[in-house]
Amino acid sequence: MQVVTLGTGSPLPDANRAGPATLVRAGGRDLLFDCGRGVLMRAAAVGTGAVAFDTVFLTHLHSDHVTDFNDVVTTRWAMGMTENPLRVVGPEGTRRFTERTLEMLRDDIGYRLAHHADLQWEPRCDVTEVSDGVARDDGVVRVLAAPTDHAPVRPTVGYRVEADGRSVVVAGDTVPCAGLDRLCAGADVYVQTVVRRSLIEAIPVARLQDVLGYHSSVQDAAATAQRGGVGTLVLTHPVPPPAAGTEAEWVAEAAEGFSGPVVFAHDLWAHEV
Ligand SMILES: [Zn+2]
Ligand SMILES: [Zn+2]
Repeated sequence: MQVVTLGTGSPLPDANRAGPATLVRAGGRDLLFDCGRGVLMRAAAVGTGAVAFDTVFLTHLHSDHVTDFNDVVTTRWAMGMTENPLRVVGPEGTRRFTERTLEMLRDDIGYRLAHHADLQWEPRCDVTEVSDGVARDDGVVRVLAAPTDHAPVRPTVGYRVEADGRSVVVAGDTVPCAGLDRLCAGADVYVQTVVRRSLIEAIPVARLQDVLGYHSSVQDAAATAQRGGVGTLVLTHPVPPPAAGTEAEWVAEAAEGFSGPVVFAHDLWAHEV
């Protein structure tokens, strides 16, 4: 199994960080978690893409995590040589979001259908809404979902991928909570979106202060990792975007609360699990 942080950014545009998206490659499948800004550019860098994804899992419907979902839908459809419905798994609301996305794409779908004689089907998404329990199990790879806490955004979920006796947790945006602890118990890798409390508290902008209440801080992520006894803690989606040369500070802050290895992810960081 391999985990690749395709995009490690946040809502704040960053020249070097695409929007949040994590790829887990297991049992010959490419599982995509969230579809942030530029996801297919980053996927292309590791030789995969919309046509190849086994399933797209959404942690929640915040714009930074789904902004390029429409690109995945369109590209899979327009580049596919056969009808190839996109399997989508996400929290309640994902079906409605998918229907609205297809509606948004209606004009483009019409242009391409009218132009390409060999393209005779519309894009299709097979959506499964999940809250707690098995989100996908094909006998080779099993994905579990559990509720997370990103209130007032509700509902939200995190995921745990299991294959070959190994496991990777992709948490999404959440504060520490019981569902997250269940996912993390004994996991080999735990990928957590984080904010750095001390830096945000020093910036007197109300809208930025708001993010403190519904994200894991670096210390929160470390504490969750320590409680779960995870193998490696991966920090992603850093808010605020780190100044060049300060990456080690984030790792050091996490290391105060977690005794295992800590990684401060960059785009296309890849790790064999
Ligand atoms: Zn986010
Ligand atoms: Zn969010």
